[in-house]
Amino acid sequence: MYEIEVKAAFEAAHFIDGYAGKCARLHGHNWEVKAVVAGENLDGLGMLMDFRILKAELKKVLEEYDHRFLNELPQFASENPTAENLARQIYERLKSSEIFAGAAKLKAVKVCETPGSSVTYHE
Ligand SMILES: [Zn+2]
Repeated sequence: MYEIEVKAAFEAAHFIDGYAGKCARLHGHNWEVKAVVAGENLDGLGMLMDFRILKAELKKVLEEYDHRFLNELPQFASENPTAENLARQIYERLKSSEIFAGAAKLKAVKVCETPGSSVTYHE
C-alpha cells in the first residue's frame, strides 16, 4: 500500500459560537490542510497519483474558504467552523473530485489550526 500526502494552506477568520473562552471572539488562522491518498497500484510512471494534480485539486477546494469570514459561509449556517467541521467538509468536497475515479482513494484530510493543533478526518 502506498500513501501520498500534499499540503496547502489558506487564511480565514472565524469564531466559535457558544464557546466559553477567547475563541468565541472573532480571530484568524493560517489554516494548513493536508490530503492523504492511498492505493496499491502505481501507474506506468511508478506513481500512485501526480502530486501536482492532487495539490491543484486541494487548492481548488480551499479557494472557497480563503480570505473569508467562515461563519458567514452557507456551509456553516448550521454548524460552527471548527477545525473538525472544516476537515470533514474539505474531505467530502475533495473526495467528489474526478481525480479519485481510479484506484487511488482519498484516505484522510488533516486540518492544522495552529502548528501544534490539528484534526484528522477520515471515513
Ligand atoms: Zn480559531
